[in-house]
Amino acid sequence: MTTADIISFEPATGAELWRGTPCDVDDVVARARRAWPAWAAQPLSTRMELVRRFANEVRKDAEALATMIARETGKPLWEAHAEVEQLVAKVEVSIRAYAERTSQRKLDSALQGKMALRHKPHGVLVVLGPFNYPCHLPNAHIVPALIAGNVVVFKPSEKAPASGEMLARCFNRAGISAAVMQFAPGGPLEGQRLIAHEGIDGVLFTGSANTGIAINRKLATRPDKLVALEMGGNNAMVMWDTPKLADAASLIVQSAFSSAGQRCTAARRLIVKASLYDQIVPMVKSLADRVIVGAPFDEPAPFMGPVIDNAAADGLSESFLYLMSHGGRAIKHLQRPDGTLPFLSPAIIDTTAMTDRPDVELFGPILQVIRVEDFDEAIAEANNTRFGLAASLVGGTPQEYNRFWANMRAGIVNWNRATIGPSHAAPVGGVGLSGNHRPSGYYAADYCAYPVASGEMEQPRAVIGVGIRP
Ligand code: NAD
Repeated sequence: MTTADIISFEPATGAELWRGTPCDVDDVVARARRAWPAWAAQPLSTRMELVRRFANEVRKDAEALATMIARETGKPLWEAHAEVEQLVAKVEVSIRAYAERTSQRKLDSALQGKMALRHKPHGVLVVLGPFNYPCHLPNAHIVPALIAGNVVVFKPSEKAPASGEMLARCFNRAGISAAVMQFAPGGPLEGQRLIAHEGIDGVLFTGSANTGIAINRKLATRPDKLVALEMGGNNAMVMWDTPKLADAASLIVQSAFSSAGQRCTAARRLIVKASLYDQIVPMVKSLADRVIVGAPFDEPAPFMGPVIDNAAADGLSESFLYLMSHGGRAIKHLQRPDGTLPFLSPAIIDTTAMTDRPDVELFGPILQVIRVEDFDEAIAEANNTRFGLAASLVGGTPQEYNRFWANMRAGIVNWNRATIGPSHAAPVGGVGLSGNHRPSGYYAADYCAYPVASGEMEQPRAVIGVGIRP
Protein backbone atom coordinates (compact mmCIF):
# COMPACT_ATOMS: atom_id res chain seq x y z
CA MET A 1 0.00 0.00 0.00
CA THR A 2 1.26 3.45 -0.84
CA THR A 3 2.22 5.90 1.85
CA ALA A 4 2.77 8.88 -0.44
CA ASP A 5 2.35 12.17 1.38
CA ILE A 6 -0.97 13.95 1.28
CA ILE A 7 -0.30 17.48 -0.02
CA SER A 8 -2.77 20.29 -0.36
CA PHE A 9 -2.17 23.35 -2.53
CA GLU A 10 -3.69 26.81 -2.48
CA PRO A 11 -5.83 26.97 -5.62
CA ALA A 12 -5.39 30.72 -5.97
CA THR A 13 -1.58 30.62 -6.02
CA GLY A 14 -0.56 27.01 -6.57
CA ALA A 15 1.60 27.16 -3.43
CA GLU A 16 1.92 24.11 -1.19
CA LEU A 17 -0.12 24.63 1.97
CA TRP A 18 -0.06 21.38 3.94
CA ARG A 19 1.80 18.09 3.81
CA GLY A 20 1.35 15.02 5.96
CA THR A 21 1.45 11.27 5.92
CA PRO A 22 -1.75 9.28 5.44
CA CYS A 23 -3.19 7.75 8.59
CA ASP A 24 -2.61 4.12 9.55
CA VAL A 25 -6.13 2.80 9.16
CA ASP A 26 -5.72 -0.19 11.51
CA ASP A 27 -4.31 2.01 14.28
CA VAL A 28 -6.99 4.63 13.85
CA VAL A 29 -9.84 2.13 14.04
CA ALA A 30 -8.31 0.27 16.99
CA ARG A 31 -7.97 3.54 18.94
CA ALA A 32 -11.55 4.47 18.13
CA ARG A 33 -12.88 1.07 19.26
CA ARG A 34 -11.06 1.38 22.58
CA ALA A 35 -12.46 4.86 23.14
CA TRP A 36 -16.06 4.10 22.30
CA PRO A 37 -17.41 2.38 25.46
CA ALA A 38 -16.35 5.20 27.78
CA TRP A 39 -17.69 7.88 25.45
CA ALA A 40 -21.03 6.10 25.00
CA ALA A 41 -21.29 5.71 28.79
CA GLN A 42 -20.99 9.48 29.40
CA PRO A 43 -24.27 11.09 30.35
CA LEU A 44 -25.93 12.79 27.40
CA SER A 45 -25.66 16.10 29.24
CA THR A 46 -21.86 15.75 29.32
CA ARG A 47 -21.64 15.07 25.61
CA MET A 48 -23.88 18.07 24.93
CA GLU A 49 -21.76 20.26 27.17
CA LEU A 50 -18.62 19.16 25.33
CA VAL A 51 -20.01 19.97 21.88
CA ARG A 52 -21.07 23.38 23.20
CA ARG A 53 -17.48 23.89 24.32
CA PHE A 54 -16.45 22.90 20.80
CA ALA A 55 -18.64 25.74 19.47
CA ASN A 56 -16.79 28.12 21.79
CA GLU A 57 -13.43 26.88 20.54
CA VAL A 58 -14.58 27.53 16.96
CA ARG A 59 -15.71 31.04 17.95
CA LYS A 60 -12.28 31.73 19.48
CA ASP A 61 -10.49 30.43 16.38
CA ALA A 62 -12.94 31.86 13.83
CA GLU A 63 -10.55 34.22 12.08
CA ALA A 64 -7.75 31.69 11.70
CA LEU A 65 -10.13 28.94 10.64
CA ALA A 66 -11.85 31.11 8.01
CA THR A 67 -8.45 32.18 6.70
CA MET A 68 -7.36 28.56 6.37
CA ILE A 69 -10.59 27.52 4.62
CA ALA A 70 -10.25 30.43 2.20
CA ARG A 71 -6.61 29.61 1.42
CA GLU A 72 -7.20 25.90 1.02
CA THR A 73 -10.40 25.98 -1.04
CA GLY A 74 -9.87 29.31 -2.82
CA LYS A 75 -13.29 30.54 -1.75
CA PRO A 76 -13.62 34.25 -0.86
CA LEU A 77 -12.86 35.11 2.75
CA TRP A 78 -16.42 36.34 3.37
CA GLU A 79 -17.72 32.95 2.30
CA ALA A 80 -15.22 31.11 4.49
CA HIS A 81 -16.47 33.18 7.44
CA ALA A 82 -20.01 32.06 6.63
CA GLU A 83 -18.79 28.44 6.70
CA VAL A 84 -17.33 28.96 10.17
CA GLU A 85 -20.62 30.42 11.41
CA GLN A 86 -22.36 27.29 10.19
CA LEU A 87 -20.09 25.14 12.37
CA VAL A 88 -21.24 27.00 15.45
CA ALA A 89 -24.91 26.99 14.43
CA LYS A 90 -24.82 23.23 13.88
CA VAL A 91 -24.32 22.55 17.57
CA GLU A 92 -27.62 23.91 18.89
CA VAL A 93 -29.51 22.52 15.88
CA SER A 94 -28.09 19.06 16.62
CA ILE A 95 -28.85 19.22 20.31
CA ARG A 96 -32.45 20.14 19.54
CA ALA A 97 -32.70 17.50 16.80
CA TYR A 98 -31.40 14.79 19.13
CA ALA A 99 -34.00 15.71 21.75
CA GLU A 100 -36.85 15.95 19.26
CA ARG A 101 -36.11 12.92 17.08
CA THR A 102 -34.26 10.46 19.26
CA SER A 103 -35.39 11.17 22.78
CA GLN A 104 -36.71 8.60 25.25
CA ARG A 105 -40.41 7.94 25.21
CA LYS A 106 -42.82 5.81 27.23
CA LEU A 107 -45.15 3.76 25.04
CA ASP A 108 -47.26 2.13 27.75
CA SER A 109 -50.45 0.52 26.52
CA ALA A 110 -53.20 -1.65 27.96
CA LEU A 111 -52.27 -4.44 25.55
CA GLN A 112 -48.49 -4.42 25.86
CA GLY A 113 -48.02 -3.02 29.37
CA LYS A 114 -44.97 -0.90 30.08
CA MET A 115 -42.96 -0.10 26.98
CA ALA A 116 -40.13 2.32 26.35
CA LEU A 117 -38.43 3.71 23.25
CA ARG A 118 -34.80 4.72 23.60
CA HIS A 119 -31.89 5.18 21.21
CA LYS A 120 -28.38 3.81 21.13
CA PRO A 121 -25.28 4.90 19.22
CA HIS A 122 -23.89 2.68 16.47
CA GLY A 123 -20.26 2.72 17.67
CA VAL A 124 -17.38 3.79 15.45
CA LEU A 125 -18.51 5.97 12.55
CA VAL A 126 -16.27 7.02 9.68
CA VAL A 127 -16.96 10.51 8.33
CA LEU A 128 -15.65 11.15 4.81
CA GLY A 129 -15.59 14.82 3.84
CA PRO A 130 -15.64 16.68 0.51
CA PHE A 131 -13.31 19.53 -0.44
CA ASN A 132 -15.86 22.27 -1.11
CA TYR A 133 -17.06 22.73 2.48
CA PRO A 134 -14.15 21.03 4.22
CA CYS A 135 -15.34 21.90 7.74
CA HIS A 136 -19.08 22.53 7.65
CA LEU A 137 -20.11 19.36 5.84
CA PRO A 138 -18.07 16.81 7.81
CA ASN A 139 -19.11 18.70 10.92
CA ALA A 140 -22.75 18.26 9.94
CA HIS A 141 -22.19 14.52 10.52
CA ILE A 142 -19.65 14.75 13.34
CA VAL A 143 -21.61 16.82 15.86
CA PRO A 144 -24.81 14.73 15.76
CA ALA A 145 -22.74 11.52 15.78
CA LEU A 146 -20.86 12.58 18.93
CA ILE A 147 -23.98 13.77 20.72
CA ALA A 148 -25.60 10.38 20.08
CA GLY A 149 -22.62 8.60 21.67
CA ASN A 150 -20.63 7.46 18.66
CA VAL A 151 -16.92 7.99 18.26
CA VAL A 152 -15.80 9.48 14.97
CA VAL A 153 -12.96 8.79 12.58
CA PHE A 154 -12.84 11.86 10.37
CA LYS A 155 -11.06 11.54 7.03
CA PRO A 156 -11.10 14.95 5.38
CA SER A 157 -10.81 15.43 1.65
CA GLU A 158 -7.23 14.96 0.50
CA LYS A 159 -7.68 18.38 -1.13
CA ALA A 160 -8.45 20.12 2.16
CA PRO A 161 -6.69 18.32 5.04
CA ALA A 162 -5.40 21.51 6.70
CA SER A 163 -8.92 22.85 7.28
CA GLY A 164 -9.98 19.41 8.52
CA GLU A 165 -7.09 19.31 10.95
CA MET A 166 -8.00 22.70 12.40
CA LEU A 167 -11.59 21.55 12.81
CA ALA A 168 -10.43 18.41 14.62
CA ARG A 169 -8.26 20.49 16.97
CA CYS A 170 -11.28 22.57 17.99
CA PHE A 171 -12.99 19.37 19.14
CA ASN A 172 -9.89 18.16 20.94
CA ARG A 173 -9.29 21.50 22.71
CA ALA A 174 -12.91 21.39 23.87
CA GLY A 175 -12.13 18.20 25.78
CA ILE A 176 -13.29 15.65 23.21
CA SER A 177 -10.23 13.46 23.00
CA ALA A 178 -8.28 12.71 19.83
CA ALA A 179 -9.47 9.12 20.16
CA VAL A 180 -13.17 10.06 20.36
CA MET A 181 -12.92 12.53 17.47
CA GLN A 182 -9.99 11.36 15.45
CA PHE A 183 -8.37 13.22 12.57
CA ALA A 184 -7.38 10.64 9.97
CA PRO A 185 -5.82 12.24 6.89
CA GLY A 186 -5.71 10.28 3.68
CA GLY A 187 -6.94 9.99 0.15
CA PRO A 188 -9.36 7.63 -1.61
CA LEU A 189 -7.17 4.65 -0.67
CA GLU A 190 -7.50 5.34 3.05
CA GLY A 191 -11.20 6.01 2.45
CA GLN A 192 -11.60 2.58 0.85
CA ARG A 193 -9.68 0.88 3.64
CA LEU A 194 -11.64 2.66 6.36
CA ILE A 195 -15.05 1.76 4.99
CA ALA A 196 -14.03 -1.86 4.50
CA HIS A 197 -12.57 -2.20 8.01
CA GLU A 198 -14.24 -4.78 10.25
CA GLY A 199 -13.92 -2.44 13.23
CA ILE A 200 -16.25 0.26 11.98
CA ASP A 201 -20.02 0.43 12.35
CA GLY A 202 -20.93 2.90 9.66
CA VAL A 203 -19.95 5.50 7.08
CA LEU A 204 -21.28 9.04 6.90
CA PHE A 205 -20.28 10.33 3.51
CA THR A 206 -20.54 13.64 1.67
CA GLY A 207 -19.07 13.73 -1.81
CA SER A 208 -19.64 12.82 -5.43
CA ALA A 209 -22.17 10.30 -6.70
CA ASN A 210 -19.40 8.16 -8.20
CA THR A 211 -17.72 7.75 -4.83
CA GLY A 212 -21.03 7.27 -3.04
CA ILE A 213 -21.96 4.49 -5.46
CA ALA A 214 -18.56 2.84 -4.93
CA ILE A 215 -19.09 2.94 -1.16
CA ASN A 216 -22.61 1.57 -1.50
CA ARG A 217 -21.36 -1.25 -3.73
CA LYS A 218 -18.52 -2.08 -1.38
CA LEU A 219 -20.91 -2.36 1.57
CA ALA A 220 -23.74 -4.03 -0.32
CA THR A 221 -23.12 -7.29 1.50
CA ARG A 222 -22.80 -5.57 4.88
CA PRO A 223 -26.27 -4.58 6.02
CA ASP A 224 -24.82 -4.42 9.52
CA LYS A 225 -22.95 -1.22 8.61
CA LEU A 226 -24.83 2.04 8.46
CA VAL A 227 -24.32 3.99 5.22
CA ALA A 228 -25.49 7.60 4.89
CA LEU A 229 -24.70 9.15 1.52
CA GLU A 230 -24.98 12.85 0.65
CA MET A 231 -24.08 13.22 -3.01
CA GLY A 232 -24.23 15.67 -5.87
CA GLY A 233 -26.96 17.02 -8.12
CA ASN A 234 -27.84 18.20 -11.60
CA ASN A 235 -30.16 20.81 -10.17
CA ALA A 236 -32.81 22.70 -12.10
CA MET A 237 -34.12 26.23 -11.79
CA VAL A 238 -37.36 26.88 -13.63
CA MET A 239 -37.91 30.48 -14.74
CA TRP A 240 -41.56 31.47 -15.08
CA ASP A 241 -43.59 34.69 -15.25
CA THR A 242 -42.70 37.41 -12.78
CA PRO A 243 -42.60 41.19 -12.85
CA LYS A 244 -39.34 41.00 -10.86
CA LEU A 245 -36.96 39.93 -13.59
CA ALA A 246 -33.89 41.69 -12.16
CA ASP A 247 -34.36 39.91 -8.83
CA ALA A 248 -34.85 36.64 -10.69
CA ALA A 249 -31.59 37.16 -12.58
CA SER A 250 -29.81 37.75 -9.29
CA LEU A 251 -31.20 34.50 -7.81
CA ILE A 252 -30.07 32.62 -10.90
CA VAL A 253 -26.52 34.00 -10.83
CA GLN A 254 -26.27 33.37 -7.10
CA SER A 255 -27.48 29.78 -7.53
CA ALA A 256 -25.25 28.95 -10.49
CA PHE A 257 -21.99 30.70 -9.67
CA SER A 258 -21.57 31.01 -5.90
CA SER A 259 -18.44 29.15 -4.78
CA ALA A 260 -17.49 29.00 -8.47
CA GLY A 261 -20.37 26.55 -8.91
CA GLN A 262 -18.79 24.12 -6.46
CA ARG A 263 -21.89 23.53 -4.38
CA CYS A 264 -23.91 20.36 -4.39
CA THR A 265 -27.08 22.45 -4.63
CA ALA A 266 -25.83 24.81 -7.38
CA ALA A 267 -28.22 25.39 -10.27
CA ARG A 268 -26.80 23.57 -13.28
CA ARG A 269 -29.81 23.89 -15.60
CA LEU A 270 -31.93 26.98 -16.13
CA ILE A 271 -35.23 25.97 -17.70
CA VAL A 272 -36.87 29.04 -19.21
CA LYS A 273 -40.34 29.73 -20.54
CA ALA A 274 -39.85 30.57 -24.24
CA SER A 275 -41.72 33.88 -24.04
CA LEU A 276 -39.36 35.10 -21.26
CA TYR A 277 -36.14 33.89 -22.83
CA ASP A 278 -35.16 37.08 -24.69
CA GLN A 279 -35.64 39.16 -21.55
CA ILE A 280 -34.16 37.03 -18.78
CA VAL A 281 -31.21 35.37 -20.49
CA PRO A 282 -29.52 38.70 -21.44
CA MET A 283 -30.09 39.93 -17.87
CA VAL A 284 -28.44 36.82 -16.42
CA LYS A 285 -25.55 37.19 -18.86
CA SER A 286 -25.08 40.85 -18.07
CA LEU A 287 -24.99 40.14 -14.32
CA ALA A 288 -22.63 37.19 -14.84
CA ASP A 289 -20.37 39.52 -16.87
CA ARG A 290 -20.07 41.71 -13.77
CA VAL A 291 -19.16 38.87 -11.42
CA ILE A 292 -15.73 39.49 -9.87
CA VAL A 293 -13.55 36.40 -10.00
CA GLY A 294 -10.52 36.66 -7.74
CA ALA A 295 -8.31 35.32 -5.00
CA PRO A 296 -9.83 34.88 -1.51
CA PHE A 297 -8.28 37.98 0.05
CA ASP A 298 -8.55 40.36 -2.92
CA GLU A 299 -10.01 43.84 -2.52
CA PRO A 300 -12.67 44.51 -3.65
CA ALA A 301 -13.89 41.13 -2.46
CA PRO A 302 -14.54 38.68 -5.27
CA PHE A 303 -17.91 37.02 -5.78
CA MET A 304 -16.18 33.73 -6.53
CA GLY A 305 -12.70 32.26 -6.44
CA PRO A 306 -10.97 29.60 -8.53
CA VAL A 307 -12.13 26.01 -8.75
CA ILE A 308 -10.24 23.59 -6.56
CA ASP A 309 -7.34 22.66 -8.87
CA ASN A 310 -6.07 22.61 -12.43
CA ALA A 311 -7.43 19.11 -13.06
CA ALA A 312 -10.93 20.36 -12.20
CA ALA A 313 -10.47 23.43 -14.43
CA ASP A 314 -9.25 21.23 -17.29
CA GLY A 315 -12.21 18.88 -16.89
CA LEU A 316 -14.71 21.74 -16.88
CA SER A 317 -13.11 23.31 -19.98
CA GLU A 318 -13.36 19.96 -21.76
CA SER A 319 -17.00 19.59 -20.70
CA PHE A 320 -17.83 23.04 -22.03
CA LEU A 321 -16.21 22.17 -25.38
CA TYR A 322 -18.13 18.89 -25.43
CA LEU A 323 -21.43 20.73 -24.97
CA MET A 324 -20.49 23.19 -27.72
CA SER A 325 -19.50 20.49 -30.16
CA HIS A 326 -22.71 18.52 -29.53
CA GLY A 327 -25.26 21.22 -30.30
CA GLY A 328 -24.79 23.68 -27.41
CA ARG A 329 -24.68 27.42 -28.21
CA ALA A 330 -22.37 29.46 -26.00
CA ILE A 331 -24.06 32.51 -24.48
CA LYS A 332 -21.05 33.31 -22.33
CA HIS A 333 -17.82 31.39 -22.88
CA LEU A 334 -15.91 29.64 -20.14
CA GLN A 335 -12.68 31.59 -19.88
CA ARG A 336 -9.48 30.76 -18.09
CA PRO A 337 -7.26 33.84 -18.07
CA ASP A 338 -4.17 32.04 -16.72
CA GLY A 339 -3.70 28.46 -17.88
CA THR A 340 -1.47 27.69 -14.91
CA LEU A 341 -4.15 28.50 -12.30
CA PRO A 342 -7.73 27.23 -11.98
CA PHE A 343 -9.60 30.56 -12.19
CA LEU A 344 -12.61 30.26 -14.49
CA SER A 345 -15.18 32.83 -15.53
CA PRO A 346 -18.90 32.07 -15.15
CA ALA A 347 -20.15 30.39 -18.31
CA ILE A 348 -23.61 30.06 -19.83
CA ILE A 349 -24.56 27.75 -22.67
CA ASP A 350 -27.90 27.07 -24.35
CA THR A 351 -28.28 23.32 -24.70
CA THR A 352 -31.91 23.28 -25.89
CA ALA A 353 -30.91 21.84 -29.28
CA MET A 354 -28.86 19.00 -27.80
CA THR A 355 -30.68 15.74 -28.26
CA ASP A 356 -28.65 13.86 -25.69
CA ARG A 357 -27.59 16.13 -22.82
CA PRO A 358 -25.20 14.27 -20.50
CA ASP A 359 -26.87 13.89 -17.10
CA VAL A 360 -23.72 14.53 -15.09
CA GLU A 361 -22.82 16.99 -12.38
CA LEU A 362 -20.48 19.63 -13.85
CA PHE A 363 -19.00 20.82 -10.56
CA GLY A 364 -18.06 24.33 -11.60
CA PRO A 365 -19.37 27.65 -12.96
CA ILE A 366 -21.27 26.35 -16.01
CA LEU A 367 -24.97 27.04 -16.40
CA GLN A 368 -26.96 25.30 -19.13
CA VAL A 369 -30.08 27.05 -20.44
CA ILE A 370 -33.00 25.07 -21.85
CA ARG A 371 -35.98 26.73 -23.49
CA VAL A 372 -39.47 25.20 -22.99
CA GLU A 373 -42.95 26.07 -24.23
CA ASP A 374 -45.21 25.23 -21.29
CA PHE A 375 -45.19 24.35 -17.60
CA ASP A 376 -45.62 20.60 -18.13
CA GLU A 377 -42.57 20.58 -20.34
CA ALA A 378 -40.67 22.63 -17.74
CA ILE A 379 -41.40 20.13 -14.97
CA ALA A 380 -40.59 17.17 -17.20
CA GLU A 381 -37.29 18.78 -18.17
CA ALA A 382 -36.44 19.65 -14.56
CA ASN A 383 -37.04 16.01 -13.61
CA ASN A 384 -35.03 14.78 -16.58
CA THR A 385 -32.13 13.67 -14.39
CA ARG A 386 -31.11 10.70 -12.31
CA PHE A 387 -30.18 13.10 -9.50
CA GLY A 388 -32.69 14.71 -7.15
CA LEU A 389 -31.06 17.18 -4.80
CA ALA A 390 -32.41 20.73 -5.25
CA ALA A 391 -34.90 22.48 -7.51
CA SER A 392 -36.29 25.98 -7.54
CA LEU A 393 -39.17 27.73 -9.28
CA VAL A 394 -38.58 31.42 -9.93
CA GLY A 395 -41.78 33.34 -10.65
CA GLY A 396 -45.07 31.59 -11.32
CA THR A 397 -48.34 31.63 -9.42
CA PRO A 398 -49.07 29.86 -6.13
CA GLN A 399 -50.97 27.23 -8.17
CA GLU A 400 -47.94 26.69 -10.39
CA TYR A 401 -45.70 26.40 -7.35
CA ASN A 402 -48.07 23.80 -5.88
CA ARG A 403 -47.73 21.75 -9.06
CA PHE A 404 -43.99 22.24 -9.11
CA TRP A 405 -43.70 21.15 -5.48
CA ALA A 406 -45.91 18.12 -6.01
CA ASN A 407 -44.18 16.92 -9.18
CA MET A 408 -40.51 17.72 -8.54
CA ARG A 409 -38.46 14.75 -7.48
CA ALA A 410 -35.91 16.39 -5.18
CA GLY A 411 -35.09 16.71 -1.49
CA ILE A 412 -35.04 20.53 -1.58
CA VAL A 413 -37.82 22.28 -3.51
CA ASN A 414 -37.87 26.10 -3.33
CA TRP A 415 -39.95 28.98 -4.62
CA ASN A 416 -38.39 32.33 -5.48
CA ARG A 417 -35.33 31.30 -3.52
CA ALA A 418 -31.90 30.22 -4.64
CA THR A 419 -31.23 26.50 -4.98
CA ILE A 420 -28.16 26.89 -2.75
CA GLY A 421 -27.81 27.57 0.96
CA PRO A 422 -30.00 24.88 2.51
CA SER A 423 -30.76 25.39 6.17
CA HIS A 424 -29.34 22.75 8.50
CA ALA A 425 -32.26 23.44 10.81
CA ALA A 426 -34.20 21.44 8.16
CA PRO A 427 -33.38 18.06 6.62
CA VAL A 428 -30.73 18.32 3.88
CA GLY A 429 -30.62 15.51 1.36
CA GLY A 430 -31.79 14.26 -1.96
CA VAL A 431 -33.29 11.35 -3.83
CA GLY A 432 -32.14 9.52 -6.95
CA LEU A 433 -28.35 9.62 -7.25
CA SER A 434 -28.20 12.47 -4.73
CA GLY A 435 -28.61 10.37 -1.61
CA ASN A 436 -29.76 7.12 -0.05
CA HIS A 437 -32.77 8.40 1.86
CA ARG A 438 -30.76 9.34 4.92
CA PRO A 439 -30.87 13.13 4.79
CA SER A 440 -28.44 15.10 6.87
CA GLY A 441 -29.07 18.50 8.48
CA TYR A 442 -31.78 18.30 11.12
CA TYR A 443 -32.43 14.62 10.30
CA ALA A 444 -28.80 13.59 10.91
CA ALA A 445 -29.98 12.63 14.39
CA ASP A 446 -31.91 9.76 12.79
CA TYR A 447 -28.91 7.98 11.29
CA CYS A 448 -26.59 8.64 14.23
CA ALA A 449 -28.59 6.42 16.60
CA TYR A 450 -30.82 3.40 16.31
CA PRO A 451 -34.11 2.92 18.14
CA VAL A 452 -34.45 0.24 20.80
CA ALA A 453 -37.92 -0.85 21.90
CA SER A 454 -38.12 -2.31 25.41
CA GLY A 455 -40.99 -4.02 27.23
CA GLU A 456 -40.23 -3.56 30.93
CA MET A 457 -41.69 -4.93 34.21
CA GLU A 458 -40.13 -4.61 37.63
CA GLN A 459 -40.95 -8.27 38.40
CA PRO A 460 -41.59 -11.23 36.08
CA ARG A 461 -45.27 -12.08 35.78
CA ALA A 462 -46.79 -15.28 34.39
CA VAL A 463 -48.24 -14.69 30.97
CA ILE A 464 -49.36 -18.07 29.62
CA GLY A 465 -53.12 -18.31 30.04
CA VAL A 466 -54.14 -21.13 27.71
CA GLY A 467 -52.79 -24.44 26.38
CA ILE A 468 -51.05 -25.55 29.60
CA ARG A 469 -52.17 -28.73 31.51
CA PRO A 470 -53.06 -28.03 35.13
P1 NAD B 1 -15.26 12.94 -3.70
O1 NAD B 1 -16.33 11.96 -3.90
O2 NAD B 1 -14.17 12.98 -4.71
O3 NAD B 1 -14.53 12.72 -2.29
C1 NAD B 1 -15.25 12.75 -1.07
C2 NAD B 1 -14.49 11.95 -0.02
O4 NAD B 1 -14.51 10.56 -0.35
C3 NAD B 1 -13.02 12.35 0.09
O5 NAD B 1 -12.69 12.34 1.47
C4 NAD B 1 -12.31 11.24 -0.66
O6 NAD B 1 -10.98 11.03 -0.24
C5 NAD B 1 -13.18 10.05 -0.33
N1 NAD B 1 -13.11 8.96 -1.33
C6 NAD B 1 -12.87 9.06 -2.65
N2 NAD B 1 -12.98 7.84 -3.23
C7 NAD B 1 -13.30 6.94 -2.24
C8 NAD B 1 -13.58 5.55 -2.23
N3 NAD B 1 -13.56 4.81 -3.32
N4 NAD B 1 -13.92 5.00 -1.04
C9 NAD B 1 -13.99 5.73 0.08
N5 NAD B 1 -13.71 7.06 0.12
C10 NAD B 1 -13.39 7.67 -1.04
O7 NAD B 1 -15.98 14.37 -3.58
P2 NAD B 1 -15.32 15.82 -3.65
O8 NAD B 1 -14.84 16.06 -5.04
O9 NAD B 1 -14.36 16.01 -2.53
O10 NAD B 1 -16.58 16.75 -3.33
C11 NAD B 1 -17.42 17.27 -4.32
C12 NAD B 1 -18.66 16.42 -4.46
O11 NAD B 1 -19.36 16.39 -3.22
C13 NAD B 1 -19.65 16.96 -5.47
O12 NAD B 1 -20.17 15.90 -6.21
C14 NAD B 1 -20.73 17.58 -4.61
O13 NAD B 1 -21.98 17.68 -5.22
C15 NAD B 1 -20.74 16.66 -3.43
N6 NAD B 1 -21.31 17.32 -2.26
C16 NAD B 1 -22.51 16.88 -1.78
C17 NAD B 1 -23.11 17.54 -0.71
C18 NAD B 1 -24.44 17.13 -0.14
O14 NAD B 1 -24.74 17.52 0.98
N7 NAD B 1 -25.25 16.36 -0.83
C19 NAD B 1 -22.47 18.63 -0.15
C20 NAD B 1 -21.24 19.02 -0.66
C21 NAD B 1 -20.66 18.36 -1.72
